[in-house]
Amino acid sequence: MKIRLFKPSVGEEELASIKDSFDSAWLGLGPKVAEFERQWSRYVGSQESVGVNSCTAALHLALSAYRFPEGKKVLVPALTFAATAMAALYNRLIPVFVDIDEHTLGLDLADLERKYDKDCVAVMPVHFGGHPVPMDNLVSWAKARGLKVIEDCAHSAGGKYKGKTLGTWGDIGCYSFEEKKCMTTGDGGMISSDDAELLKPLRHSRWIGINKDTWERYEEYQLGQPDVNSWYYEISDIGYKYNMNDLMASIGLVQLGKLDRMNRRREEIIGQYTAGIQGLTKVTSAIPYDLHDSSYWAFVVRVQERERFIAAMQARGIATGVHYMPLPMQPLFMKYASENPVATRIWRELVTLPLFPDLTPEEVEYVISAVQAYQ
Ligand SMILES: *Cc1c(COP(=O)(O)O)cnc(C)c1O
Repeated sequence: MKIRLFKPSVGEEELASIKDSFDSAWLGLGPKVAEFERQWSRYVGSQESVGVNSCTAALHLALSAYRFPEGKKVLVPALTFAATAMAALYNRLIPVFVDIDEHTLGLDLADLERKYDKDCVAVMPVHFGGHPVPMDNLVSWAKARGLKVIEDCAHSAGGKYKGKTLGTWGDIGCYSFEEKKCMTTGDGGMISSDDAELLKPLRHSRWIGINKDTWERYEEYQLGQPDVNSWYYEISDIGYKYNMNDLMASIGLVQLGKLDRMNRRREEIIGQYTAGIQGLTKVTSAIPYDLHDSSYWAFVVRVQERERFIAAMQARGIATGVHYMPLPMQPLFMKYASENPVATRIWRELVTLPLFPDLTPEEVEYVISAVQAYQ
């Protein structure tokens, strides 16, 4: 048996939806993106959403919305994907790495307070593996210090904390639709916020700074109001080519309809995994999975002798991953290094096991027996 680590759950419905875009021969930034943005806003419960081509782009633009002065500091977890800290660098800000909570792998609020100083302007929590950071505490801590909260929800599309969707607790939420994440558009991302005014300039930033996209101009033309000046647009700020396109949005509209079902299926598999490894001494769950309204993206375990464990899984055809080597250990981020004893110690024990909605019951059983057989 060969089992992948992640696998997008896509099929006939997504294909039919793409065909629709083909039939209308509008593949770029257009009506499907607008529709996906509307439906996404309704789904998470935000006023406004802006579709982009990745969560990396979403994080970059979200942070840029505040126009923080160069050299200010942004608090980010030490254990995350590079994009979280990269967003600070893109904005000429300094990433300050915060240690993680040993039991949840999310931001450690005590260390957050230790790392905070007056130059900090924002904090970017990551719901690691999909497990929520205690957002009520984090948001009140941040508000008391005048910090903006940008949630990196790349691991947690559709999950809730205390009944409120992740990504809507902070000032801005950023989501990933990369192919390995909770739902996919191939590559893609979304920026959501209740502050519609704040997001308005980001619609221009994602389209090279142009204040009117080609779809808007085409619509004017179609509505029979072709104005000889309809070609006219203005660029008043730096922009990027970060837009989502209609092909991605076509897939996204279908995936969004399946997201809750996919999250429930992942909960079911995680329930079986955690029951299956219960009582083992060499392999334990790295996250206190709370299988209710969740959007767990990864099943992460802690193991002693990680390399031997990975080899044992490989020998049985089971793919594994490591999420992540702490960012301050990467050459690029070394100069921002700080004391993060928990992340530095436990990342060496972390292994990610296969998790995706289309895992069959036999495959789940097979993974569990392989882990149980590890002595
Ligand atoms: C995947 C990921 C991102 C980046 O998402 P892309 O859509 O691939 O750009 C950002 N943050 C975290 C925590 C991620 O895991």
